[in-house]
Amino acid sequence: MNEKIIENLFKQYIESNLGSQTFNSYFKEIRIKMFENGNVKILCPNNFVLIYIKSKFSDTILNYLSTQNPNMKKVIYETFSTTNTATSARKRQGHSKSHLTDNHQLSAMSNSISSSINQPGSLFLSSTTLNPNYTFETFVPGNNNLLAHAASRAVADSPGKVYNPLFIYGDVGLGKTHLMQSIGNVIRVSSPHFKILYCTTEQFLNDMVSSIKSQKSLEFRSKYRSIDLLLLDDIQFISNKVALQEEFFNTFNALYQSGRQIVIASDRPPSEIQHLEDRIRSRFEGGLVADVQKPDYETRIAIIEKKLQQRNEYVPREVIYKLAEIINSNIRELEGAVLKLSLLQKSQNKPITILDLNKLFNLKLSSKAKSTKKVSYLEIIKAVSSELEVSIRDIKSTKRSKDVSFARHICMYLIKEILNLNLQKIASILGRKDHTTIIHGIKKIKVILESDPNSESSQIISSLLESLRDYQIK
Ligand code: ADP
Ligand code: MG
Repeated sequence: MNEKIIENLFKQYIESNLGSQTFNSYFKEIRIKMFENGNVKILCPNNFVLIYIKSKFSDTILNYLSTQNPNMKKVIYETFSTTNTATSARKRQGHSKSHLTDNHQLSAMSNSISSSINQPGSLFLSSTTLNPNYTFETFVPGNNNLLAHAASRAVADSPGKVYNPLFIYGDVGLGKTHLMQSIGNVIRVSSPHFKILYCTTEQFLNDMVSSIKSQKSLEFRSKYRSIDLLLLDDIQFISNKVALQEEFFNTFNALYQSGRQIVIASDRPPSEIQHLEDRIRSRFEGGLVADVQKPDYETRIAIIEKKLQQRNEYVPREVIYKLAEIINSNIRELEGAVLKLSLLQKSQNKPITILDLNKLFNLKLSSKAKSTKKVSYLEIIKAVSSELEVSIRDIKSTKRSKDVSFARHICMYLIKEILNLNLQKIASILGRKDHTTIIHGIKKIKVILESDPNSESSQIISSLLESLRDYQIK
């Protein structure tokens, strides 16, 4: 990867993990230079920035850069003035910044710089096994993962203090690994000295077995027991390994009792892991047990939108809605589908249509089958959402901005006109507490239609009504 791209990605990563303030004060001006021998230079605008980021964030920087470039050997910190690229950035930064301040800060901080900061740590105990893309910023919270998401955030903010262990369970492809690694990614930035280990239970047990075989149990113990944050994935793997549970329990206890944070992911709750010693089960249940479920329709839309945004890709709304209908369980599959769409769109160089989508997923919706289908309230909301470019989430939210309220009122009106549902039902569909809100909304639309049938708003409403009615009658 080109060094400019790495620099940009790195800056995005820092800004989203450390916040804009730290980013603007220390990272905005830095430059990254990569060399063929595996060295990487971080060029800083002045000594103060250099000392500061080197002492506080060198682990974070090292971990991030080594995931981007596995051949990386060493990170070297320099100021612009020692290189040719200096001048422009230096001018921008205002070279006049007092040397006194620099020197003062410098001596105050130099003690805290360890001589080993340029050495990548042991792969095993460093956080390089974390995927830098699994962050809270790329995770879409929804009804399906509310508790697991909130608890993960809380653990990331106060490791070892709130929920210990945090036990996340749910079917495959629903975001468990993403959540637990997000915790790791926050902590590796906020507490760079933390020893973080993410591993699957299988890796953990293999390591344990081989240490026993080679009579290195002591080493194994000291290695695992020095961890500050243990992220243990797929714990269900332990179910039949009764002989190994004793050692596992000891490791778990040692960490737990010294206040280290443990996060566990599993495809089922502790109560359903077979052949698990009771004392381990009760330890798991002693913290917080949170599940992740399949995402609902709106969350699927939000996930698709997020993935497209990450790929910098625009896809027409109706295609997104359709995709969220077709793929309704596993988020990994949803992600794969977004990738397919995005590749197709790139290759044909024009916006993808529903027809393309049907072809891509081999959907044989005969027009006959489609026309006999009765329109549903969801289809009405979808139609309004895509016509007015207001998301379904917003329509159902408490937002009161003009366009969101307008879209919401149209939904109320159309659902009443077309489906004649009772007001209470319409209120619950649209997430309103009270049916009087619905009366009010419908009235607003009627006033628009009656007062000026030729206005743009009236025309939008009428054409929606017409097309959705047609759809029903055919
Ligand atoms: P699990 O560990 O539960 O099997 P993963 O965490 O590996 O699932 O998630 C599968 C894929 O789906 C990952 O690429 C992940 O980024 C994505 N994913 C899962 N949940 C979400 C979410 N709520 N928001 C965004 N992406 C998600
Ligand atoms: Mg997983």
